[in-house]
Amino acid sequence: MKQGIITLFIISTFVACTATENDVNQEEEDVLMVGDYEFVENLTNDYGLIWSWEGEFTTGEQEKVKDWITEVSEATNNTLGQYGFDVYVNIIRSNSKNRPVPFGFARRREGKNQVHLYVNPTATKDELLRDWTAQHEFSHLSIPFLGSKNKWFSEGFATFLSRQTMMDQGLYTQVEFDSLYHSKITEAKAYYNSSTKTFIEVSDSLLDNNVYSHMYWGSTTFLFTIDKRLRKERDIRFVDIMKEYQPLFRDSDKSIKDVIRSFDKVIGEDWCWELMAVYRNNPSNVIMEDY
Ligand SMILES: [Zn+2]
Repeated sequence: MKQGIITLFIISTFVACTATENDVNQEEEDVLMVGDYEFVENLTNDYGLIWSWEGEFTTGEQEKVKDWITEVSEATNNTLGQYGFDVYVNIIRSNSKNRPVPFGFARRREGKNQVHLYVNPTATKDELLRDWTAQHEFSHLSIPFLGSKNKWFSEGFATFLSRQTMMDQGLYTQVEFDSLYHSKITEAKAYYNSSTKTFIEVSDSLLDNNVYSHMYWGSTTFLFTIDKRLRKERDIRFVDIMKEYQPLFRDSDKSIKDVIRSFDKVIGEDWCWELMAVYRNNPSNVIMEDY
């Protein structure tokens, strides 16, 4: 294995996008990123993690964070398929006492697939592993950026797949997951009770009102529906579709339409396309009535 360390100094201004399932006020903010980039090639392929750090970290803290993120990255590749690109991981020091990872976001820009995480490195590795934020941000990278208009889809997608990855990490069982999805979706139902607005219109207005958690969980229903059907009719999970999607379509897909079509190509049916029409055209209370 060839292993090298390349250090680059990069200064750039980033505009953060929100990525939280909790109803925390998240302002858009400018993040000045100054960092050392360390490139480490992976054993199994040509792609790896490229690290940068903001704030002070001890060597021990950096080791712990690297161990944790490497585990999350490997788990993501096992669950969603091997990513065909490097992932730029930017760790920003946080002193949050509430959660070890209070905030994160994913970004695909200028050909770089990035995960930015605010981390309190005094948390134990176990506490870090049980936080869902890293799995959520890594999940985002499994499809292209779909634009802010389709945030309902991308956030439901990442919220669903982060827990699928955690399930494969042995942190939850399928039964525990079904029950988690159902209780979170049941809570979200109250917000999707409109008989006139479509599911997507309600999602957008929840987003405008910073009601993140219910929008994220409400929107998991799309993949949950496809996953349930695949489990029932094919005895496979949606993540099995993702494993085939990665090498075939991840690079060439540009829009939500492409992504939905590609999922259907892998499935060999029009399930996703048809379900999308239901989400676009039906009132939100109709979509949610099965939950
Ligand atoms: Zn997200």
